[in-house]
Amino acid sequence: MRGDALDKKRNSGRAIVRQLFLDNLGKVITKEELIRAICEGTGLPDYENWHQRLSELRTDEGYTILSRRDRRDLRPGQYLMLSSERREAAAKRVRPTPSTWRAVLTRAQSRCEWQEEGVRCGLMDGATDTVGGGTVKLTPDHMRPHSVDPRSHADDPAQWQALCGRHQVTKRNYWDSTTGKLNVVAIVQAASGKDKAVVFRMLLAYFGYTVDANGNVGKV
Ligand SMILES: [Zn+2]
Repeated sequence: MRGDALDKKRNSGRAIVRQLFLDNLGKVITKEELIRAICEGTGLPDYENWHQRLSELRTDEGYTILSRRDRRDLRPGQYLMLSSERREAAAKRVRPTPSTWRAVLTRAQSRCEWQEEGVRCGLMDGATDTVGGGTVKLTPDHMRPHSVDPRSHADDPAQWQALCGRHQVTKRNYWDSTTGKLNVVAIVQAASGKDKAVVFRMLLAYFGYTVDANGNVGKV
């Protein structure tokens, strides 16, 4: 399949998933229902990338789609959109100009520029991602908080960095780009149920609550 034909299938997959949620606000949608709707709509026999379409709706379009990470009563593979409201920041995403992006890639030597405790990720564009799996695709990340209008930086390579997919997600999830601070809520949201329970007990103790053997919460 040619590149644009693939793109078209991708876009229509996203539109089908979007419409399914918008038509079923407040109702749980299962993974199976998502896949079935995409297959029926696109005529594809099977569809593996349903999860990517979900993440595009969340991050690119700003929809809030809840999963087990957000609500304990949702089972794995169950998703829920409560309202058609979109977060505004997600709606206007800005990219560097093509020549700026080329300059960034040259500076980065086509390797992910994410640094953690002084160690650089360094995954190479097009290489196999040994940690996350799949092929590494570097994309531009605006380094400054978004309170500074990113459009004014489209021509300045110093304002952008090249990040692999995994580190784009890390940055989006864990750093609030408007304040430059750790996004604590998103970190807890992404944590396992076990870790959430640890945080829950920690917060109860912090705010002066106790839990008895039957799980009843009381104020000290
Ligand atoms: Zn990386």
